[in-house]
Amino acid sequence: MLNSAIKAILPLFTEHNRFVLSTHVNPDGDGLGSEIALAEWLQSKGKEVHILNHDAPPALYLFLDPHKVIQQYVHADHADMIAGTDVLVVLDTNHPGRLGSMEPAVTASRAVKVCIDHHLDPASFADHYVVDQEASSTGELVYRILTEADPPEAISPAIARALYCAIMTDTGSFRYSHVDPELHSIVGDLIARGADPGNIYREIYEQWSPGRIRLLGETLATLDLAYQGLLAHITIDQAMLRRTGTVESDTDNFTIYPMSIQGVEAGILFLELNDGVKMSLRSRAEIPMNELAKEFGGGGHRNAAGARMQNVGLESFKRDVLRAAGKYLQHEQRKQ
Ligand code: 5GP
Ligand code: MN
Repeated sequence: MLNSAIKAILPLFTEHNRFVLSTHVNPDGDGLGSEIALAEWLQSKGKEVHILNHDAPPALYLFLDPHKVIQQYVHADHADMIAGTDVLVVLDTNHPGRLGSMEPAVTASRAVKVCIDHHLDPASFADHYVVDQEASSTGELVYRILTEADPPEAISPAIARALYCAIMTDTGSFRYSHVDPELHSIVGDLIARGADPGNIYREIYEQWSPGRIRLLGETLATLDLAYQGLLAHITIDQAMLRRTGTVESDTDNFTIYPMSIQGVEAGILFLELNDGVKMSLRSRAEIPMNELAKEFGGGGHRNAAGARMQNVGLESFKRDVLRAAGKYLQHEQRKQ
């Protein structure tokens, strides 16, 4: 089925000339790497390509974009571009609501819309879907598309680096589910085509500011456990961000710490935003964090999900989420 979905979109890349690519708010390595890879490839075909995202890319991902193709969406400057493009490709999300301020323009555009993604429950907004919930990452899907369209030589070193980054970041450095021999052979091919694992790891995971380390220290001190130690949660408020001179994207991946506690099956990071709250949810095995996220207007994968809500207070949000989480842990509680 995936193969026929891929075959169905290939003509778009030859028939059309103007492309706009986009990914979700607070873009991550998978969204950005997938965009860059597809943009590089389309540019190599002589196409006009723009990448427009609600948020500017976090500084740590700028190495992927030396030619500064990625732009932050500004309605006054870019609405016409979205209305007038031939093809709109939405990557690493399957819901226009996750495009932030771009949502109305994308929804209204008459361009051919393509969704390339690996999340559950796709919304109905696109003309073509290349979606596979079993894929490790959107980067893996972009790899499959490019290698179906072209001989492997079409994967340039820049494309290989962007796709390696997408897959590495979305699999927690090749640890999570959907990491199988086939994925490793894709990754092997990317390395053979110029992705340097040591370099990319350093660019992504070893570029912390001193403030980010201080924020981690403060965050770890908020650790709390619930449900007999099955659930661990940490909390960041605005004062902590101010004190350490950090921003939302500095909190990426902090969920690995609660998840690394012995016996913990689910972890939550609560983050106070300017105008509301955000939570990052992680779990092991069958615990459906996407269901918990949905109760609060969010979504995601079973083992990695999240939600953001406006106009709610951190403490009352935490209380509600922690109360709601219990039912998803019941099976685990019985096992003990
Ligand atoms: P993270 O915790 O890394 O921000 O997000 C983990 C996963 O949860 C993401 O891959 C995304 O699928 C999902 N996610 C996070 N925040 C939201 C949200 O506000 N809405 C939806 N639908 N999904 C989210
Ligand atoms: Mn992804």
